[in-house]
Amino acid sequence: MNAPPESMTAPAPPVETGLRWSNRYAALGTAFHTPLPPQPLPGPYWVGQSRATGALLGLAPQWTESDELLQALSGNRPIAGSTPLATVYSGHQFGVWAGQLGDGRALLLGETEGGLELQLKGAGRTPYSRMGDGRAVLRSSIREFLCSEAMHGLGIPTTRALCVTGSDAPVRREEIETAAVVTRVAPSFIRFGHFEHFAANDQLDELRRLADFVIDSFYPAARHSERLAGNPYAALLEAVSERTATLLAQWQAVGFCHGVMNTDNMSILGLTLDYGPFQFLDSYDPAHICNHSDTQGRYAYARQPNIAYWNLFCLGQALLPLIGDQELALAALESYKSVFPAALEARLRAKLGLRQTESDDRGLIEGALRLLATERVDYTIFWRRLCDYTADGQAAPVRDLFLDRAGFDAWLRQYEARLAREDAAAAAATMRQANPKFVLRNHLGELAIRQARQKDFSGVAKLLALLEHPYDEHPGHEAEAGFPPDWAASIAISCSS
Ligand code: AMP
Ligand code: MG
Repeated sequence: MNAPPESMTAPAPPVETGLRWSNRYAALGTAFHTPLPPQPLPGPYWVGQSRATGALLGLAPQWTESDELLQALSGNRPIAGSTPLATVYSGHQFGVWAGQLGDGRALLLGETEGGLELQLKGAGRTPYSRMGDGRAVLRSSIREFLCSEAMHGLGIPTTRALCVTGSDAPVRREEIETAAVVTRVAPSFIRFGHFEHFAANDQLDELRRLADFVIDSFYPAARHSERLAGNPYAALLEAVSERTATLLAQWQAVGFCHGVMNTDNMSILGLTLDYGPFQFLDSYDPAHICNHSDTQGRYAYARQPNIAYWNLFCLGQALLPLIGDQELALAALESYKSVFPAALEARLRAKLGLRQTESDDRGLIEGALRLLATERVDYTIFWRRLCDYTADGQAAPVRDLFLDRAGFDAWLRQYEARLAREDAAAAAATMRQANPKFVLRNHLGELAIRQARQKDFSGVAKLLALLEHPYDEHPGHEAEAGFPPDWAASIAISCSS
C-alpha cells in the first residue's frame, strides 16, 4: 500500500522541553496577534547553540543533543504548552511611515516561567509577511545568533539567541541560499512600532492595554512617579528614552552600527533588536554606512544617536493620546538629551581608564577621536593597544597605528600627564573591561558562514566562545583580534536577509 498523503498522517506529538509556558502577550487580545504554527523545515541540523542562553532558560544541559528539540525549534513539531503566534506592528522605515508591518517571519512561542519569551525567526509565512517568504537565510541567521551573544558578552543590552538550526531547503534572495531559523530570547519583543500601530489605527483601548502591560511588566515605577505631573504614560516615555540613550551610548562607544534603525526595530526595553546589516567599525569613520541598501546614509554610525531620538519622538507621538498633553510628552523626551551624552562620556572615560572626573577630560577624549578619524585607525585595535600601553608602558604598538607620529605623541603626552593622577593599576583594569579584544567583525562572521555552508560549524562555535568573553585575552586567537583583511572592505551587507 502507498504511504498515506501527508494530510492524513498523524500530527507529530508535542515535544516536552521541561519549560512551563504562559503567553501574556496573547492574553492582550485578538487585535494584537494571529495564532499560527510554524511551517516545517525539512532535514534540520544544528548550526550554532548557546549553552549560556540554554542555562538562562533553565533547559537541561542535554538540550544540545536533543533531536526532538531540534525538530521543534525548526518548526517540525509543536512544543508542549507553547502557543505560537505572530504579532502585528507598524512603523517608520527610513524616515517614512510604512503602515502595517508585523512579524512576517517570526513566531512568538510564548513566555517561560522565568519571564523570558522565545521567538522562532524564519519559521514561515504569517499574515504579516506581505511579499516575503517568511524565511531567513543561513548567512543572516548566523550573524544574528553570534551578534546577540557577542553583545551580551560586551555587556550591551540585547535580545539573546539560543540557537540556529539550518536546512538544505532553498531560499531565493539575490541568489539561491538555504533556510535557517534563529531561536531568539528576550523578556519582550515589543517594539516602538507596536505602539505606533494602535495609535495610527485609532485603537485607543488597545494602545492603553499595551502601555499598561508594558508599564506593569517592565516599568512599574512609572505608575508611581511624581515627575511629569504623575502621568504614568509620560513616565514610561521618559524611562524608555533613558534606556535607549544608555543603549546608544554603548553602541557608539564600542563602534556598533545597527544598520536599520527603523521604529519597528526599536525595542521598548532598550535592547539591541533585529540584527540585519549591522557592523562593528573596522577603521574609525564617523560617516560609515554599514547597510548597502542605505543609500542616503540615514543610519550612518555618527547619526545613530539622533536617529534614536527621532524614533523616540515617534513613540512619543504614538503615546500622546494616553499622555494627553504635548508639553508633557516633550518633557519626557528631554531626558534623552542629557542621559545620552553623559552615558557616552562615561563610557569613553572608562575606555581611557579615567576614574576621576576632570574638566579637561572631554578635550582628551575628543582629541583621541579626532586622531582616529583623521587616519581611519582601526577602532577596536587602537583601544586595546592603549590598554596594553597603560599596563606595560610600551607606546610603540599603539603609536605604530598612526602616520602622524608627532600628532599622536602630543596627544599621548597629554594622556600620560592625566593618567599620572589616576591609580595606574585600577586604570588598566578599568580599560580591560571597557575595550574588548574581540568584536564580531564582518569578515569573521563571513568566514564562519562560508564554513557553515560546507556543513562545518566549528567556525561558528569558535567565534561564539571568543565573543562570549570578548575582554579576555584568549591566547592563540590573535588572528581573530587582528586587522581585517583587504577583502573585508568589499563585503556588502544589505537588508536582504
Ligand atoms: P526587517 O527589515 O528585517 O526588520 O523587516 C521589516 C519587515 O519585513 C518586518 O515586518 C519583517 O517581518 C518583514 N520581513 C523581512 N523579511 C521577511 C521575509 N523574508 N518574509 C516575510 N517577512 C519579512
Ligand atoms: Mg525588523
